[in-house]
Amino acid sequence: MLTLGFGKPGICVDTHVHRICNRWGYVATKTPEATEAALRAILPSEYWIEINDLLVAFGQNHCLPVSPFCSTCRLAALCPRIGVRKSR
Ligand code: SF4
Repeated sequence: MLTLGFGKPGICVDTHVHRICNRWGYVATKTPEATEAALRAILPSEYWIEINDLLVAFGQNHCLPVSPFCSTCRLAALCPRIGVRKSR
C-alpha cells in the first residue's frame, strides 16, 4: 500500500517475488521479509515498485510454484533454477 498507493520507497515482496528471486539466486532467503531486506540492499531503487508487478505476472503464468515452464523460458540460459525439482 505504501509503495503503490503513496509512492513511498519500498519493495512489495509476495510469494512470487520471494520464490523467483531465490530461484534466480539473486537472493538466498527463507522468508519474504528476508527477501525484502536482501532486495533493498542489492536492487537499484528505480526497480523497487515495478518488480512486484513484473514478477507476479511472471510467477502466475510462467515461473509457476510447481513445475514452471523452464523449457520455454527466455531466462533459462541465465537461470540456475535453484530449488526447481520438476519443470515443463
Ligand atoms: S528457467 Fe524456470 S525457474 Fe528459471 S525463471 Fe524461467 S521458468 Fe523460472
